[in-house]
Order: sequence, then C-alpha cells, then structure tokens
Amino acid sequence: MGIFDGIKNFKKQLDKVETSIYSGKQSLLEVYELNLKLEAEIAKRTRELDTANKQMLTLQHIWDMMNSSKPLSSVLNAIVTSLQGELGYLHSCIAKKMTDGEGEYLQMMACSGSLFDGIFRSLFDCDPYEMRFNSPNIDEIYESIEEDKIYQSKDVLELIKKTIPDISEEVVIKGLGATGTKAYILIPLTYNHSHFGSLVVFSSREDAAENELKFLKLFSKQIELAITIAGLFQTVKEQAVTDSMTGLYNRRYFEEFLQKEVLRSKRQNTKFSIIGIDLDHLKKINDKFGHTYGDMAIKAISEILKSSCRTIDIAARMGGEEFNVILPGVDSQGAIIFAERIRKTIEAIPLEKIGHITASIGLGTFKEHSEDIYELEELVDHAMYESKRAGRNRVTVAKPASETSWQEIAINAFTDILTKHRIPIDKRTSNLLNKKLQEMNINNEMLYQVSDLLVSTYNPKHAVGITKKKVFLATLLAKRFELPKENVDKLKIAVLLYDIGNTMLPKDLLSKTEPLNEEEFASIKQHPLIAAREILKPISNIGDIIPIIEKHHENWNGTGYPEHLSGDNIPIESQIILIVDSYFALLEDRPYRTAMSKQDAIKTILVESGSKWSTALADEFASVINNEDFND
Ligand code: GH3
Ligand code: MG
Repeated sequence: MGIFDGIKNFKKQLDKVETSIYSGKQSLLEVYELNLKLEAEIAKRTRELDTANKQMLTLQHIWDMMNSSKPLSSVLNAIVTSLQGELGYLHSCIAKKMTDGEGEYLQMMACSGSLFDGIFRSLFDCDPYEMRFNSPNIDEIYESIEEDKIYQSKDVLELIKKTIPDISEEVVIKGLGATGTKAYILIPLTYNHSHFGSLVVFSSREDAAENELKFLKLFSKQIELAITIAGLFQTVKEQAVTDSMTGLYNRRYFEEFLQKEVLRSKRQNTKFSIIGIDLDHLKKINDKFGHTYGDMAIKAISEILKSSCRTIDIAARMGGEEFNVILPGVDSQGAIIFAERIRKTIEAIPLEKIGHITASIGLGTFKEHSEDIYELEELVDHAMYESKRAGRNRVTVAKPASETSWQEIAINAFTDILTKHRIPIDKRTSNLLNKKLQEMNINNEMLYQVSDLLVSTYNPKHAVGITKKKVFLATLLAKRFELPKENVDKLKIAVLLYDIGNTMLPKDLLSKTEPLNEEEFASIKQHPLIAAREILKPISNIGDIIPIIEKHHENWNGTGYPEHLSGDNIPIESQIILIVDSYFALLEDRPYRTAMSKQDAIKTILVESGSKWSTALADEFASVINNEDFND
C-alpha cells in the first residue's frame, strides 16, 4: 500500500469514528479501542512520511547538485553517501561496466560505507577506485540487467567472491559479519539505451519492502540523469569556441579558422598574417602578487586584443599566457604595424598593483614566409622566442625557414629547453645559461659554452672546450663523406644535443664506481635516448635531428641499441656522433678507468673498425685526427 493510499484509509477510519460517535450507536469502549488503533496507525504513517520526506529531501539535494556545476564524481559520491547515510544502507556503490583487451570488468565510480572505506583498505590492502572487479558471473543478475529489473539477493558472499576472485572467503565472512551485512540489491543503470553499470546497496535487512525498491528505482533514474547531463555537458564543452576566462576564441576554434583561411587564401590568392603574443614574466607576477593578478594581466591583454581587432580578425587565447591573432588579407608590412600598436598599448596601460606589463611578439605571413601553414606557425613561434631572447617587449618578423641558420635553430632549442623547464637543472645554472643565450650577438663560442655547461651538470669530468672540438671533428668527418651543407648543419645541432637525455639520469648512477647491475645498465643505456626524444619532441625545427640522436648508439655490425640496426641502415650522421663521442670519452677519466692518451684512444677506435663503425669511417677518422688541420 502506498503512503497516500494509507492516508486515505486513515481518513476513512476517522470518518467512521466520527459517525459512530455522533450516531451514539457504539459504546464508549469501542470508540476507545478504535482510537488506540488509530494512534498506532498514525505513528506508523508518521514514520513512513518521515522516510519519504528524507528520500524526497535527498533527491532534492542531488537534483540541486546536478543543476550546479559540480563534476559528475561529486554528484555520484553524494548519491552513494546519502544511500549509505540518511537512507540507512550499510554500504553502497556505483560501478561502471568497462571492456579492455582482457574482457569485461567493473570499475568503481563512487562508493561509500565501511566495506569500501575500511575493509577494502585494511583487509584487502587496495583502493576500491583502483581495483579491477570482475563482472559477477551470476545468471540471475544478467537476466535482471537484460530486463532492466532490480535484483535482490542474500548471497553477499557469492557476489564478492565472484567480483574479486582471489579474495579469501574467511576474510569476507568476517567482514560481512562484523558489519551486519545480510543482503544486497542491484539496480541496473542505462545510458543512451544500453546497460552502463549498476547501483548496488548492501542492507542489514534481509528483505526490502516494495516501497523501498520503488524508491531505489527512482534513485537509479537520478543517477542515469546525472550521467546523461555530464555527457551533454562534455559535448557542449567540446563544442565551445571561446575561452571562458577571457572571452577570446580558444585554440580549437583558432586552428579550425586557420585551415579555412589557408583555403581561402589559396583560392583568392591573398595573404594573411599570424601574430603570436606571449606575456612577459607572468611567473614573476604570479609569485609577487598572486594568481588573481596574473589572471588580471592575461585579461588586460585580451581586452587590448579585442579592441584592436577588426571584425574579420580572429584573436585567440592559445593557452596560459599565449595569444594568437589571424589578420586576413594583411601582409607582413601591415602585420608589423598592427603588432607594434598592440605592443605599445600593452606597455602603456598600467595595471592595479602590478604596474606596467609587456609582451613579446612574433609574426609571420602566409605566402611570404612559408606556404606551409604548419611551418608558418613554427616560424611565428621562433620569431616570438627571438623577441624574448633579444630582451622581451618587442616585435620580431619571422625568417623564412631556408634562411634560418643552424646556430639559430640550436639557440632556439636551448632557449626552449630552459624556459619551458624541460630538464631538471638548478636555477643558478639555468639562469646563467639563459643569460648567455640572450646576448644580442650570440656567436658559436657562446653556443659551445652553453652545451659544455649543460654536459658538466651530469659529467663532472667534462672539460670546457670539448663541445667545440666535437663539432669541429664531426664537421671534418662529414665533409670527408661529402654530406650536403644541410646535413652538416643538422649534424652540428645533433652534436650539441645528443646527450641531453643524460640530464634526466639519477646522479648517483652516473658516478658509480662499482660495476652496474643488469637493471642499472639497461636503464643507463636506454633511458637517455628515450629522455632525449621526450625533451626534444615538442621543439620546433629539430624534427630531423631526433632520429640522428636516437640512432647514435647503433653499431655497424648490429650489436648496438635500441634497434640493433646495422650497416647503411644507420644514418652516417649517427655513426659520426658515435665515433666522435667514443673518442672524446676515451680521453676523459671515468669512475672505472683513467684517461687514455690521444694515441691510445686512436688505437682503441681502430680496433673496433668494421664492428662498431664502418672501416671507411674508422679510416677517415684516423686520417682526420692525425691531420695537422685538427689540432687539439
Ligand atoms: P617569459 O617572459 O619568458 O614568457 O616568462 P613567463 O614567466 O611569462 O613564462 P613561463 O613560460 O616561464 O611561465 C608561464 C607561467 O604562467 C607559468 C604558469 O604558472 C603561468 N600561467 C599559465 N596560465 C596561467 C593563467 O591562466 N593564470 C595565471 N595567473 N598564470 C598562468
Ligand atoms: Mg610568458
């Protein structure tokens, strides 16, 4: 009987009492007995109303949460906590059905109650959120799911054993006994018309009343709704074109627009420009005044961009403190004027507390600097970095890729590595290197010094001046093999960067004097190559350098690593690095041996002619190194 039917019934009985009193047909005793019954009925109905009230309030609370911007996980947690708390279940959880290579399993989305909070952690020593639960192989459950019906069972032990196969039965029985768990109710959940997962509540009562089941069904609908809303929210978010903090377009829209602009520009034979803007020293602003003021600086630039753009221009926040503007139909001359105006406006307007801020700007024009949009984006990025390097608060025009020297590419790579903190080096060294890189007229010498300093952070035996000698020797060898200038340039950059991955190695490993165990050896071998790729991958214009570096431990006879390449499958640039690196390593002290003389080192190199490196390379090496051109 539902609550309202119950109340109606109660009203009828009350009418009956009233009628009997008035008609005087019933004795007082009868009236008194009826009254007692009614009181009991009232108490029962009050309890029911109280439960219903709690259920309504819980639903209301969850509904409110769903309408706020709370993430799905908070809503689901509120649901399981209410079920376990106010609504009187011992434990409660929501599990999601998942599939991977090993088949179907269940993953916890939310759980509450001592079974999950205490028992899992103390007895099973695991976090329920990190566990992979098996789908319980129980026919009746499958049938219920199929028919979207609630399933009740007293066999809690079976459920736990099937979902966690390697669990000890004794432990489970103990746990269930201690908590008084007698039964569970499983309510299937659907999303987008298919089975999504289940809500499971564990109860101290063996049987659930019909009202209770109806209510649980209602609750499960609420969960389905929360999941649907979260899904819709995600879709809306993915469709968003603006950045919520600044109201500028976001990166996604920028990229989309850019593709369209490229097509338009090709079709109508017009140019367009891209401006890249990066706020200077935001980190300092954050550190000094707090993030709110950092945000204020970002917003200030956004407002300047909005008011400076024509309606056809697209200003976007690419992320953090980085902005891009597309100027359709504008060539580099026009773009320079625009960029300068932006720069001056940013510099001119003082902000509360912070004072004046500045930005570094790079720009490039489609069909002037490149006809490849990805290359153009990279060139703009480089130009922006050039502005940073040259002292910030300035505008730099992109240089066509063909005109970019190997030194500039190397400077850009080092600057990127240091400013984006891609390697863990101490602040003092980092500042020192950055300062060297920011010299107005940086020359090769400074570049070699930067590389030397970096090497000495992980190799204390490294002497200043070695990088220069390495580049020189590698260049002479490359010329012997008649490599085109382009390849020689790549080789030079690779010589500066090939050991960058060593900065990621644990220091104690590098200075160990006793022989390394197998694991340490494998780590010391492979790790720097993997690290180098990870460090260098995001940096523009050095995509061709990475494969050279990755293969500089391959031996001519296939005994090297990581891919056991052999012969001509190894790029000549990589072989040159291997021989140059090996030679200079022999001249240095190592924890396990002392430095060799030049003549001994040459002899050692020649011993491995035809095995580690080709005979041709070993011969050229001996010839170059004994030549008086190469004097070290
Ligand atoms: P530089 O002049 O070389 O660009 O120095 P910088 O400090 O601006 O640049 P860096 O890339 O070293 O650091 C950027 C900092 O910006 C780090 C990050 O914490 C902060 N940042 C990124 N996004 C936001 C944001 O939305 N708000 C705030 N307040 N800070 C942000
Ligand atoms: Mg910045």
